[in-house]
Formats: sequence, structure tokens, C-alpha cells
Amino acid sequence: MITVVGSINMDLVVGTDRFPKQGETVLGNLYTTVSGGKGANQAVAAARLGSTVHMVGAVGSDAFGKQLLDGLEMEQVQTAAVKTTDGASGIANILLSEGDNRIIVVPGANHELTTADIDAQKKLLEKSSMIILQLELPIEVVEYTLALAQQLDVPTILNPAPAAGFTSSMKQASFLTPNETEAQELFGGNWELELERYPNRLIVTLGKHGARYFDGSEHVLVEGFETAAVDTTGAGDTFNGALAVALSEGQSFHEAVRFANAAASISVEQFGAQGGMPKRSDVTARLG
Ligand code: ATP
Repeated sequence: MITVVGSINMDLVVGTDRFPKQGETVLGNLYTTVSGGKGANQAVAAARLGSTVHMVGAVGSDAFGKQLLDGLEMEQVQTAAVKTTDGASGIANILLSEGDNRIIVVPGANHELTTADIDAQKKLLEKSSMIILQLELPIEVVEYTLALAQQLDVPTILNPAPAAGFTSSMKQASFLTPNETEAQELFGGNWELELERYPNRLIVTLGKHGARYFDGSEHVLVEGFETAAVDTTGAGDTFNGALAVALSEGQSFHEAVRFANAAASISVEQFGAQGGMPKRSDVTARLG
């Protein structure tokens, strides 16, 4: 059983022909709301692959809060440990234009999650075979959960995104999964050397090239699966959810990274973060 301690957001996607200038109003050509948040995305990725998944997080008392909970439940993610707070749910305002995006995230309810809420879920955490975290919750909640998990002897995956919240105490996570940009932010330009300090624990994802780690004696590149990418949003989230599934099933570290690459390569074939997340049979087929 996997527990995700993380963010739940409604993505408000707006498209325009061109970005408005300061003080200017333009007409848009697209508006849609889709469930997101790195925590919720990773929970859905793991649930689609067949794991029992519990979500620990917070939504607001607004209409989005109810929609977000319903969406998770439809994906078979257990939401009993998601609290509803007075006020707004977390949102991501995603402006799409000129082949680019501009994003503002307002944490809302996500930042109402406290260490007391984590304590209240101690039994759930203790029963978990893997706990996944990201950095879209209050930093002290992430640090507290990592320390508690270590005390309970439950392995953790920390996906340090967005990297700005990373602290050195977070290095106690069992597994760290930055992308290349995050690895640079965390460890500087020489991040490759850092892999050697965390053998079989630090995995840097490399987009279509796959992922790399150090196995204790050699650097290992686990090649990505070639595919026609349509939208890479959520590739990292799929990678993390799938990695958690594979590791909690007892797959070897190398096989787990390969499994995560396969799952993530399928997720980029469709639009939206959660839209393209694969089922187990899709991943099995891709692994060949
Ligand atoms: P995102 O922010 O787009 O969700 P990310 O920046 O967190 O992703 P990446 O390193 O870009 O993380 O991608 C994560 C994983 O997704 C890679 O390790 C790889 O397995 C897979 N992946 C990403 N892009 C592609 C692609 N174009 N083709 C195949 N696999 C891909």
C-alpha cells in the first residue's frame, strides 16, 4: 500500500493567441479545469498501475474541493486522510500562448496541512510500503513526514519539485528523484558527482533520455523509451508514481527505474498530466 503526502490542485487552463501586456485585456480561446497538483497526480499514477493508494493532503471548502475529492475517488485513490479546510482549494493558473506557458500556483488549502495532521495519520503511514512526497506542501510538514517515516522504518520517495523548498534534512529520504534542472538547483553544476554519494538512492530523470543513478561502482543510464511525445506535462509525476509501485512490489532498483521510464513514456503520448497515465497492462506491453 502506497501513501502520498502531497498537494491537490485544480488546474485552471486558459489559452490566448498572445499573452496580454501589463494592464491589457485580451480575449481567450480556451478555458478548462483539470485536476492536478503533484501529489494528486502521483497518487493517480500509482493507482492506475494497480496499487492501493491513500492520499494525505487538504482541499478547500469551495466547489473545487468537492470536485478534486470526487476525481481522486473515481481513480480509486482513498481520500479518508484528505482534510477539508475553510477557504479555497489550491489552484494552478496556467496561461497557454505563443507555444509557451506562464503558471501561477496558489497553494490555498495545501498550505493548511500541519504536522498534527501527519501525526493523526501515523497508523496509515506505518502500514505503508512506500510514502511519496513532493515540495508543494509546507516545508515543515515534508521534513516532519520524512523524519516520522524513518522512525517507523517505512521507505520514502521525495520528488524535490519545486526544488526551491529543498533543505538538507530532506536528504534522509530513501530515494530522491529530481529532474536535471532540480538536480542542478539542489547540488550545483557538479550534480553528477553527487550521484556517487547516494548509490541506488538518487535518481535523476533526463526527459526522453530516461534516468540515471550510481549503483555503488558504476554510473548507470536507464534509457528512456522512444515515443512520439504530445504533451510531457505529468511525465515526472508518472515516473514517481510508477517507481513507488515497482519498489513497493519488491522489484530490483534497476527494474523499478526501467518500469518508471516505461510508464512515463506512455504518459507523454496524450494531453494533460493525468490524462495519459497508463494502466498496468500498457506498461507491461511497453516493457516487452
Ligand atoms: P514534467 O515536469 O514534464 O512532468 P519532469 O521535468 O519532472 O517532467 P523529466 O525528466 O522531463 O521529468 O521526465 C520524467 C520521465 O518521463 C523521464 O525519466 C522519462 O522516463 C519520461 N519522459 C519524459 N519525456 C519523455 C519523452 N519525450 N519520451 C519518452 N519518455 C519521456
